[in-house]
Amino acid sequence: MTTIAFLGLGHMGMPMAMNLVAAGHRVIGFDPSPSARQAALDARVEMAASGGDAAIHADVIITMLPTGRHVLNAYRGSADSPGLLSVARSGTLFIDSSTISVADAREAAVLAVAAGHRALDAPVSGGVVGAERGALAFMVGGDGNDFAAALPLLEAMGERIVHCGDSGLGQAAKICNNMIVGITQIAVAEGIVLGERLGLSHETMVDVMSGSSAQCWALTTNCPVPGPVPLSPANFGFAPGFSGTLMSKDLGLAEEAFERVAVDARLGRMARAIYRDFAEGSGADRDFSAIIDTVRSGCTAT
Ligand code: NAD
Repeated sequence: MTTIAFLGLGHMGMPMAMNLVAAGHRVIGFDPSPSARQAALDARVEMAASGGDAAIHADVIITMLPTGRHVLNAYRGSADSPGLLSVARSGTLFIDSSTISVADAREAAVLAVAAGHRALDAPVSGGVVGAERGALAFMVGGDGNDFAAALPLLEAMGERIVHCGDSGLGQAAKICNNMIVGITQIAVAEGIVLGERLGLSHETMVDVMSGSSAQCWALTTNCPVPGPVPLSPANFGFAPGFSGTLMSKDLGLAEEAFERVAVDARLGRMARAIYRDFAEGSGADRDFSAIIDTVRSGCTAT
């Protein structure tokens, strides 16, 4: 049994923590949100009064927080609350599963190692449903021995776990993946709206394209029109799924990365702008495949 401090019991963190408990580990949770605390207590997850109290006896500290700023602040602490790095026992394994920038992930790892600890970035894909089913994909950056030590815990929460390389490369894999998905979801929406206008039915389009070179996840799993793929969010009023807000956030992280390493990602830049507008408008709490509405709204009468 491993003693795990789990910080961030929101949409993702809560089911992940519950899967660790179900696998026989001791999980001590912390979340400042009253509703998250109540949900955790209802689910019989042991709760601490602060992040530091959760961390003090832990072998492993997992963070599942909104942004890189949250992660770095929790690691470093503030004037009124000590940071996780200073209260953890020497050699504690820090695993950050939040989606944050590559630069922030590398900084977090450098800080952890300088304080005498071990660190992995281990962002996930699979969303809330994947977290609930223990079926997440983990993309992991950090030392190979630390990866091996974390593997049994990651396997309690996920099904596909890939060691991507050194610190930050888990986050790198995550944002490259999401940039591709974000772009292809727009491409699928434009193709389908064009087909509609030319007189094709949705069923015919998906039938043709799913067996041709346009085949992709955005079409055959996250199909943005109801009907051809019965479980896609379009059949449920675009209930996420993966919200426009989260896609906009991830494309912002991708943009930060491609600008820093001077990659001319023109489609990535356009997709970033499109999802930012979408998230600020009707897409905030809808699955990102509802971007098809943005495409339709730009069409003029024929
Ligand atoms: P969420 O907002 O539901 O949960 C985050 C939780 O962190 C909140 O409950 C918040 O109160 C808590 N928190 C903030 N500061 C804290 C601190 N110092 N200590 C302890 N807890 C603190 O967000 P989420 O949807 O669970 O996402 C978490 C992370 O996972 C994000 O980085 C997100 O981008 C990423 N992610 C989300 C999804 C998804 O589908 N929701 C999928 C993949 C990755």
